[in-house]
Amino acid sequence: MTLKSPSLEKLIRALLKLPGIGQKTANRLAFHILKTSYEEVKELGESILEVKKKILRCSVCFNITEDSICHICKDTSRDNSIICVVEDSLDLQAIENTREYKGLYHVLEGSLSPLDGVGPEQLRITELLRRLSGGSVKEIIVATNFSAEGEATAMYMTKILKPLGLKLTRIAYGLPVGGDLEYADEVTIAKAMDGRRTL
Ligand SMILES: [Zn+2]
Repeated sequence: MTLKSPSLEKLIRALLKLPGIGQKTANRLAFHILKTSYEEVKELGESILEVKKKILRCSVCFNITEDSICHICKDTSRDNSIICVVEDSLDLQAIENTREYKGLYHVLEGSLSPLDGVGPEQLRITELLRRLSGGSVKEIIVATNFSAEGEATAMYMTKILKPLGLKLTRIAYGLPVGGDLEYADEVTIAKAMDGRRTL
């Protein structure tokens, strides 16, 4: 599509890079931005830059945080003998929303996907092993998604964690095959945590 407006075309190209945004939606969003007041667009632009500047990864679990250590790792009332391994902070939040789980987390920042060039070294696995060397962790819950990548990650985690002799479990019950944790409802996730099976 030629709009004879390089700046508008540039905006559409940038929007197209966002996940789940196709050509039609990108066009609609760009025209919506055109109609929106300067102040509102400025606020949107500034809030995008602000998260990039302020949001860090927790130095312990790699959850998103605005401090060096996230609020979960700081919370001394949580059970530090159990770590739930998730793909990203949205999955962590989905489990937190159930209010049932009181252990700690480890965010891998992705899942194994050789076709996209994501191997074990791109995930926070070395950091997890380092956390385990302290000896206080007794159980690992693998709560990666039920997609092909999430399952491959769970299999890989089993391979490297099993020899450590920890209790190793995988959430199971009720979560849809191919499903993303972040889209599941709270009751389903709570049941999946309860019904976890030993790997
Ligand atoms: Zn943390």
